[in-house]
Amino acid sequence: MNDLPIDKDEILKELDLIRDEDLKYCDGRILGSMCTEAHPFAKEVYVKFLDSNLGDPGLFKGTKSVEDKTIEIIGKLLNLDNAYGNIVTGGTEANIMAVRAARNHARNHKGIKNGEIILPRSAHFSFKKAADMMNLKIIEADLDENYRIDVSSVKEKISENTIAIVAIAGTTELGLIDPIEELSEIAYENNIYFHVDAAFGGFSIPFLKNIGYDFPDFDFSLRGVSSITVDPHKMGLAPIPAGGIIFRKKEYLEVMAVDSPYLTVKTQSTIVGTRLGASTVATYALLKYFGKSGYSKMANNLMENTHFLKESLEEIGYEIIVEPELNIVAFNHPKKSPDQLSEELEKINGWKVSVANCPKAIRIVLMNHVTKTHLKEFLKDLKELF
Ligand SMILES: *Cc1c(COP(=O)(O)O)cnc(C)c1O
Repeated sequence: MNDLPIDKDEILKELDLIRDEDLKYCDGRILGSMCTEAHPFAKEVYVKFLDSNLGDPGLFKGTKSVEDKTIEIIGKLLNLDNAYGNIVTGGTEANIMAVRAARNHARNHKGIKNGEIILPRSAHFSFKKAADMMNLKIIEADLDENYRIDVSSVKEKISENTIAIVAIAGTTELGLIDPIEELSEIAYENNIYFHVDAAFGGFSIPFLKNIGYDFPDFDFSLRGVSSITVDPHKMGLAPIPAGGIIFRKKEYLEVMAVDSPYLTVKTQSTIVGTRLGASTVATYALLKYFGKSGYSKMANNLMENTHFLKESLEEIGYEIIVEPELNIVAFNHPKKSPDQLSEELEKINGWKVSVANCPKAIRIVLMNHVTKTHLKEFLKDLKELF
């Protein structure tokens, strides 16, 4: 550390250079990320609330009321009139909270000590962190031939130690939606906590449904669904970090409450103590700013780009892994491995694609910063590499 203060300008000069090492969303080279550039209006709102601490809501009553309203709006979007929950740092923290609620609930109400959690092989790795922290056993359910969770496999794996079943609405690798309706009934009949991870699909499926896309039900309209994760910092265009966890019942927050003696509230259910209010308020502002029609239009644009990419890839001769349900296209070269093609794409023009694991394939996430023009350039290079 320097002994004497350094001039602001000098520090900023250094930081500008450092920032130049980062990739920029607007260059359109980031093709495998589920994040995107936050909306300018969200950034404007964000800086106004940088000092608000949601961890001590008695001091920041205004910001806390915005969190409550945001949860209410997202809850209604997911067909739940009285929603409980929090805006947290992302899908990971939201999933950890869901697992913790399920674990505690099963412990308090069923006396389960060595809990098991059933989830598909396609589940996000955040559940591994949750299971590790809470000493839970992960029971992996099989996928069907279309890479969605196999319902009969879930049924077989239910045991007296099952504390939760997890399904995904918009898988991280392929953007697919699990058969949530059937799983909801199974969970309901067996009195098991059912969590839907819609970190990716949550800001897309309801809006696409709104304009006539034919998706099966995935939300609280299904009686077995206990909680849903939604990430405003993906297609919601909110600044990082913004994830959402919505619970059907207040008791799921209550089973996680610990005493918080020196604060303005008596208990706290979130994992994080001092919590950022800024992204919550930015999320709220965007929900109002876009409204259903604005988000629907954006979601529709992403789907149009998705279909454009998919069809153009097929024309060149690339193999499409699965018909896209949301804004992700996974494909393979008939001869080159995904790793090889990914390397060549980076070399030829700096393309940053990602490689899916299950199945091995190049995976393109059609986020808001990826324009038709970028896609045409990308396809030109893919044609050359074919
Ligand atoms: C992105 C994602 C997560 C993790 O979210 P973070 O915000 O990166 O913590 C979890 N589940 C799914 C399905 C996701 O797509």
